[in-house]
Amino acid sequence: MMLVNVMLAAVTLLPSPFLDNLKRERAVMESFSGDNLTWMFRVTAGLDDLANTNTVQRLGGWERPEMELRGHTLGHWLSGVAALRDKREEIRDKREEIRDKREEIRDKREGELFRRAREVVHELKVCQDKIGTGWIGAFPESDIDRIIRGERVWAPWYVEHKILQGLIDQYELCGNGEALEVARRFGDWTAGKVLALSADEAAVMRKREFGGIGESLRNLARVTGDARYEKAADVFYHPEVMESLKRGEDKLNGKHANTFIPKVIAEMRKYEMHGDREARALAEFFFKTVVDHYMYAPGCVSTKEAFRGPDKQGANLTGFTGETCCTYNLLKLSRQLFEAEPRAWIADYQERTLWNHILAQPEPIGGRVTYFLPMLTGAYKLQNRANDSFWCCQASAMESQVKVSRLIYSDVGGTVYVNQWIPSEFDNGKLKLRLETDFPRTEKAKLRVLSGCGRVAIRRPFWATSAPSAYEYREVAAGEAIEIALPCSLRTEATPDRPERKAVFYGPILLAGRLGTKDLAPEDVKALDYYEHDYKVPSELEHVPLEPFDGWVRLAKPPPHKKVWDDASHPAEPYWDEPVFRTPSGVVVAPLWTIHNERYVVYWN
Ligand SMILES: [Zn+2]
Repeated sequence: MMLVNVMLAAVTLLPSPFLDNLKRERAVMESFSGDNLTWMFRVTAGLDDLANTNTVQRLGGWERPEMELRGHTLGHWLSGVAALRDKREEIRDKREEIRDKREEIRDKREGELFRRAREVVHELKVCQDKIGTGWIGAFPESDIDRIIRGERVWAPWYVEHKILQGLIDQYELCGNGEALEVARRFGDWTAGKVLALSADEAAVMRKREFGGIGESLRNLARVTGDARYEKAADVFYHPEVMESLKRGEDKLNGKHANTFIPKVIAEMRKYEMHGDREARALAEFFFKTVVDHYMYAPGCVSTKEAFRGPDKQGANLTGFTGETCCTYNLLKLSRQLFEAEPRAWIADYQERTLWNHILAQPEPIGGRVTYFLPMLTGAYKLQNRANDSFWCCQASAMESQVKVSRLIYSDVGGTVYVNQWIPSEFDNGKLKLRLETDFPRTEKAKLRVLSGCGRVAIRRPFWATSAPSAYEYREVAAGEAIEIALPCSLRTEATPDRPERKAVFYGPILLAGRLGTKDLAPEDVKALDYYEHDYKVPSELEHVPLEPFDGWVRLAKPPPHKKVWDDASHPAEPYWDEPVFRTPSGVVVAPLWTIHNERYVVYWN
């Protein structure tokens, strides 16, 4: 059984804030020369010297030569560039069965970026050849031996997962055969290493964060047909933390969230490839538990990277909630679960999270992104610095900001599910759809059938119908246009443990009160100590009362920001205009995703 839906139907984003973010992220990816990504790989292979003062721009932050997480950015970059690929060509390619010609296909718009990705892959091969064992990395393979011996190392398998998956994506989505060759040799090295471990050694190794290496090894087995990679993936099954999920027990409190989620994704991959029902049941239980008991209003989880709960969100409204990588990984898992069995509540989760966390991550001027999404009243979003951060969440943004289109439609069992109200076109070769909307500016959408015929399922969201979200199934044919009403209204969502703490939504859009910039300087939003940052919340902003909605006034246009520093990163003109309200006491309330460089309140009192 091979259910894995890798080849995406063509989805093209039409103008919307999601397309704006995709373009910003593409510009970020274009800013890498390629040489700067591979430089430490060359040093590790002995092809360059740390002491050389060459012209390669060296990456800072977590990519510095002394940082043990170096190399992770390259992996996400390869996957992000691959995800930008115009999928229409893939479909034509598949239909005509000219697989060998895939390497010659060039997407005109993204050509330069794809060419650079090919150069990066080739450079990795040169490094791999020089090392000669199959290892590929920006640090030596001895880092793996160090974790096997139980020594303290950051997370080498986590980084290697990003690189291996980047190579597989370059092969699967861009047809780069050399990428598969490098991936295979690295897979051989990995299988040789972990299949030789004793049970005790493997248990010690699994104590350190290892990311999604298990999932990528399964993907490698899927594309090569070599079951040995799956045997290697089995070594990364972590019974010490996963067995409780099989028993339906929630022992997530205190667990490092972003270490945990990829282990579940790997189990779900096992289900997709072999129909392993126990693996799927575990994943279903995990996801439902997290969404029902650990999630904050924007769809994010974790505080200081750990699950806290169950049902303790109100006691954990900190400046360190919502690591973005957790959301990146939960969205990935949600897509697997949806494709295993389409359910409207999963699309609800995706909607909440796309609009209120993924969209909220990058600031609009420079495309800098957040690590955490603070739920502390009076806090603000901290953004990366251009060359000094290279956090995990900065790297995963290269995927999550360009993969939104994967969640708008799902092509499952001959039905095209229309899940999200994001303007876009869909084409699976049989049915071509266009979703026209400028939601939330106007509260409606139109689904046009441009060509073909087939079955669609349209999600009718709970916030527009006052009934649980459900799919409406229809047979459609070219020329039809379906009007969908999406009426929104204000509503609150309280935290389970502190019912007086409430978040405000307008339809699916999480609103936040703009609290100004008192005691906030430009350098504060680009602080490097994001993990211990002192937000210096003015005492009068610690608690903001929720005023009754009947006194709220809808504003046609948000008022300009009070400019406190004269810098393009803090423009006077708000980024987006709808929906915006003013409370009786004068607080301007706007979508959380539009608020940057300013204090805000999500959980009112
Ligand atoms: Zn992260």
